[in-house]
Amino acid sequence: MNAATKAFLKSAYKQYYFRQGNSLEFPDKIQFREFGYIPFGGSMVRHLSFRNPGEAVAEILRQTPSSVYCSNAIYAAPALPMEEKGWKGAELIFDIDATDVPTPCKKGHDIWYCENCHASVKLPSGRLRKPLKCRQCGGNTAELHGTCEVCLDAAKDHTIRVVEFLAEDFGTSPSEVKIYFSGNRGYHLHVFDKKFDLLDQQARAEIADYLRGDSLPVPQSIASALRRRLDDSEIANAGWMRIIGSFIKERREGCSSTLQKLVFDAISSRQALIDTSVTTDIHRVFRLPGTLHGNTGMCKKRVDSMDSFNPNVNPVVLNGEQVKVNVKFYPQFSIGGFSFGPFKSTTATIPTYAAVSILTRGFGEVA
Ligand SMILES: [Zn+2]
Ligand SMILES: [Zn+2]
Repeated sequence: MNAATKAFLKSAYKQYYFRQGNSLEFPDKIQFREFGYIPFGGSMVRHLSFRNPGEAVAEILRQTPSSVYCSNAIYAAPALPMEEKGWKGAELIFDIDATDVPTPCKKGHDIWYCENCHASVKLPSGRLRKPLKCRQCGGNTAELHGTCEVCLDAAKDHTIRVVEFLAEDFGTSPSEVKIYFSGNRGYHLHVFDKKFDLLDQQARAEIADYLRGDSLPVPQSIASALRRRLDDSEIANAGWMRIIGSFIKERREGCSSTLQKLVFDAISSRQALIDTSVTTDIHRVFRLPGTLHGNTGMCKKRVDSMDSFNPNVNPVVLNGEQVKVNVKFYPQFSIGGFSFGPFKSTTATIPTYAAVSILTRGFGEVA
């Protein structure tokens, strides 16, 4: 990233924070939270603390970083090194990223590319890895995951599944769960139900496994356990066995699938593919609600209604002023309801909110 690009990005982000400083959302007990940020072209600065929101906003305006983070944990002394902070509890958090939810379209928009010659190839499947070196020039390769409506809808669907699990199996009211668009490809759920706050990593891992269905026996053994009970027309009234039992009861009549296949379908229809490592890390810092994502320029936006939220439009908050960008390479993408690219060794004139994704990832510089 050259100096002109860095200055352009900082100015675009600053304009947002200057005008929308009041849309930043701070958690309670702010003086006991750890803050951090990543400057444009720099690395993470952590272990910061602020006495009040005003102090934090002033520092964000002064630094205009590419990303701003805040802990879900509260600490006796948040600015001290981790071992000395004095952990006092942390809200339960879930992260759902479209990248982790398998969708058939990924092979159409996930690519690997060469950082040297910019040759690009579609990844044959979402799970398949890129080659270490470019086959044409031997340069280093990197992956670029695109998104489409199908992927974003899948992330939304899995987010709703988390809210349902929390309500049905943990007694947490949906009103205690705040949902945010992550600013990139997914959603963060912040759970403000005190019963979770003191749970350790192990307990959080168990919750994550439960929601993902990871701790369930294989479909074959669930099917044989169910076969006996279904004949007595008696199904469990709680947890996964209730979900699987009622799914099968609804569909079994006149259905040619085996019981084992129905069990598999029941699990796939309700498992929430959250990122376990995020939920279990009790010392993490998370993007602060209302701040901008460092790669996309989109806002970590509170979602009041999942039905009406449009992740391609609602979090787009940067201005639409046209900017000339020398793009080395970038695949087609969509933001703000418009489609851009694909670009290869060209100068493109595009709105600021679209240019950010290309500039922050090093695929181009302002002309
Ligand atoms: Zn190459
Ligand atoms: Zn997709």
